[in-house]
Amino acid sequence: MSPGLSARFQKVFVGSNLKMYKTNRQTLDFLGRLQELTHDIPRSELSLFFLPSYTALADVCLAANHNLCWIGAQNMHWEEQGRFTGEISPLMLAEIGVDLVMIGHAERRQIFGETDVMVNRRVLSSLVHGFQTLVCVGDTQHELHYGISADVLRQQLKTALYGVTPEQLCKLWLAYEPFWAIGEEGQPADPGLANDIHGVLRQMLADLYPGKDQTVPILYGGSVDLENIEGLMKQSEIDGLFVGRAAWDPDRFNQIVRKTLSTRRLAQG
Ligand code: PEP
Repeated sequence: MSPGLSARFQKVFVGSNLKMYKTNRQTLDFLGRLQELTHDIPRSELSLFFLPSYTALADVCLAANHNLCWIGAQNMHWEEQGRFTGEISPLMLAEIGVDLVMIGHAERRQIFGETDVMVNRRVLSSLVHGFQTLVCVGDTQHELHYGISADVLRQQLKTALYGVTPEQLCKLWLAYEPFWAIGEEGQPADPGLANDIHGVLRQMLADLYPGKDQTVPILYGGSVDLENIEGLMKQSEIDGLFVGRAAWDPDRFNQIVRKTLSTRRLAQG
């Protein structure tokens, strides 16, 4: 057991972002198989979720057993309606029964130019509309090289949570996803480094919300695969995993979930 392994949560958090992959039909098949493979795992020990494309969301929300698997949106506009071509509003997501909304994914920030302020608006709106809200933060290779990752991440988190009340924290999850670790070109973070950064984020939460920081799970994401789960899940500050490519096959996703769980159980003794 790694020293000081946290028992913050009874369960582990494991999810996947399907990005712009899988058609509606493929996503429904994915859901069905994933639920079938994992239904025996007590949900008191596991929070399982995935984020389909917008076109699959409504059907998947209808088909899902939400006690087994939460379904989330990959992004959301902060306004309920308006002249925002191509955007999706909180009312639209609420109507189809979305459980979770992800905000601030690295690809939104890097490719679509989302700023910390936009992330903050989306976060506030998502919380007001009652969604479980997964906020992603991450550092670049450049920031890592110059040793400023912790400063950048503190700033990202502080801005993202500006105006969020202590009462809203129960609806908040965080994911640390280093930009340099995500995708085919990415290198998974060294587990010790990831743990240190999670510690920085946890401390930032404690500074912002004294006494309440332990209620927010912090997931790690970026090139997670069966091979590196053990190292990551033995770390005291890592509460779960957010997985891209490796989880898009439901059988592999099931293996990832089981390995995450068994590593955490072993580590906690
Ligand atoms: C991601 O893009 O959020 C991600 C974790 O991707 P991957 O696991 O494929 O690196």
